[in-house]
Amino acid sequence: MPRVIYAFALSFLTGVLLLTTFIGSSQAKDWEIYRLGGRDYVSDENVAKFYRFHGFTKEEKDRLFSHPALVMTWTIGSQAIYVNETKFNLSFPVIESGGRALLSTVDLAKLVDPVLRPSQIKKFISFNTIVIDAGHGGHDSGAKGIQGHEKDYALDTANRLKKALEAKGFKTVMTRSNDTFLTLGQRVDIANRTRNAIFVSLHYNASGSRTAQGIETYALAPQGTRSTNGGNPWNSLLSGNERDAENIALATAVHAHIINELSPIDRGIKRARFNVLRGINKPAILFEGGFITNPTESKLVHDPAHRQKIADSICNAVVNFKNAISSKR
Ligand SMILES: [Zn+2]
Repeated sequence: MPRVIYAFALSFLTGVLLLTTFIGSSQAKDWEIYRLGGRDYVSDENVAKFYRFHGFTKEEKDRLFSHPALVMTWTIGSQAIYVNETKFNLSFPVIESGGRALLSTVDLAKLVDPVLRPSQIKKFISFNTIVIDAGHGGHDSGAKGIQGHEKDYALDTANRLKKALEAKGFKTVMTRSNDTFLTLGQRVDIANRTRNAIFVSLHYNASGSRTAQGIETYALAPQGTRSTNGGNPWNSLLSGNERDAENIALATAVHAHIINELSPIDRGIKRARFNVLRGINKPAILFEGGFITNPTESKLVHDPAHRQKIADSICNAVVNFKNAISSKR
């Protein structure tokens, strides 16, 4: 996978907004659909044309779409695509047919389009409140790290995020503000009761392998898509929710900021059907801020200054996200 080097440090969403202004109002009839193996796809050329990328180059299995402020790369056979160096995990791999690289229409509609054109998302909520969910708590420690427990790191990060957001003029609601246990249902209820809000769940990761490390951000997997980490094939029949497009746009904003500002190992934006994301009727993401079972990352996460950086970065992302979605074409 070629990594694109930037001469200018443009923020991800700035690039997206510039691109959005170039697109104008295009229609579904602009798409030619290819049906392969029971699934619908669109071609690389069609994507390049529809989104008015200035440059489109093919290099064996790689496809590079470029615009002065935004670059997207695909690789045939791969489920990872990159937009301005941010990694996204597709529901289905890019496939090859007749020299064309084909992207599933599910990934086009549920991932690429909301990421490239956040201001086109219909019914975007306006929000002034962030429901901050510190994962786990009480008897549920979450991941047990080398130097501490996930529940404590998550709560500390949540408190820092609350302060940062309030300093920017947002209202906040904490699902928990001390070391108590809440069911996932209780967290969902708090989110759904709160008006004009988005939901951010904070976690730290664990793995049986001490080498696992990096940051990942989850959005609910829409209907017809698979969870990134597998699971039962039937789970693709489960529905997403009415916020599918906003969920991925919010995940993009947060993940891209963290990757730009903290330069961690990038595990990408992922899809899952976590119970805490499924029932929520507003834009929601679950953020995994690093592996506390990895010697290097556990040291970082244990450092309050690092948790402050994570909180500040998420706060900046929320500000940027709000600007991006409230800008009209
Ligand atoms: Zn957790």
